[in-house]
Amino acid sequence: MIYRLFSLSLSFLILFSPLFSSEIEASAPRSEDLRARRFLQDSLLKFQRSSSQREWEQGFSQHLLDEFRHLSGSGAGRQALCQGFENMDPERLAVFRLLLEEEPEAQLLGCNQFLLDSLDQFIQERVELLQQRRLRIPGWPKTKARFGPSQEEWVSTQGGPVYFNGGLPHGHFALTFDDGPHPQRTPQILEALKEHQTLATFFVLGQNAQAHPRVLREILHHQHGLGGHTQSHPDLKRLSFASAVAEIQDGFASISGIVGFSDPFFRFPYGSRTSRLQDYLREQNIATFFWNVDTLDWKIKDPLALFDYALEQVGKVDRGIILFHDIHPQTAAIMPDFLEALAERQLQSVVFRAAD
Ligand SMILES: [Zn+2]
Repeated sequence: MIYRLFSLSLSFLILFSPLFSSEIEASAPRSEDLRARRFLQDSLLKFQRSSSQREWEQGFSQHLLDEFRHLSGSGAGRQALCQGFENMDPERLAVFRLLLEEEPEAQLLGCNQFLLDSLDQFIQERVELLQQRRLRIPGWPKTKARFGPSQEEWVSTQGGPVYFNGGLPHGHFALTFDDGPHPQRTPQILEALKEHQTLATFFVLGQNAQAHPRVLREILHHQHGLGGHTQSHPDLKRLSFASAVAEIQDGFASISGIVGFSDPFFRFPYGSRTSRLQDYLREQNIATFFWNVDTLDWKIKDPLALFDYALEQVGKVDRGIILFHDIHPQTAAIMPDFLEALAERQLQSVVFRAAD
């Protein structure tokens, strides 16, 4: 899902920047060492320069993925990769988390489990720090505030309305989670939502619903909203109209195939739409949801920083639709505190329901 298209030109300026220790050179053959270093630095540079999830996912090109696969294919390459990864600080290492978790080749790295464990430890430490910081706020906690129970906002999907802030009353916010379901993070988020009697809308990927049907059923069991987000998360603008429609339909069919139905709610991957596709959704009486609060949780890997940023973004508007992704560990990790912080601000939780 993360990796696609386009090759990129290498910037030789960054090849020898002191990001990684010189230990690599001592123990791995020179060419693999250089390739690993180039791969890691190019990937990080792409990530840092990406201002949107789309830019990053398209920037992490087939070329970079091929490099990773090549390096994982030899002992020297694996050694060079592991040394590079092990020398990274956790926030940089987190950029590679989905790759380490999902790529079959990554399982060949002897250091894989060690790296994932150290990332979990980072999340854990930062969340503890967040909680300690909140405990130091004078008068906190006054009472255990709850963000819910959520008000139901009934929307007619006739004619396929399009929502950005949902037209909600002052102080009302709807939570949305994209790109799941994820076998660990989605249940963690469901638990936090339950604690707060809060309902959200999950815009799930057909392929992830098929991979984790039990988690999909759990979302529905808790009465959250369930919308489509395509089958495999392409940028629909780059597809032919027919292929884009097939992606949309397949995504809904995957959900319906598992739980029997889906809300007639849709979100474009990356928010990337065409007027023709928007017209198609209108004709199908499917409501489209964008967002007006972007938490950038694909980019902000540190839970403490994500908590602060997300709350700051909420504070900038007086109502709206909040965008998260239930595939990221930092998102799941901050959810209990984030919901509590929304409640402390006396904001009202809202969930969208299809009226017809
Ligand atoms: Zn998405």
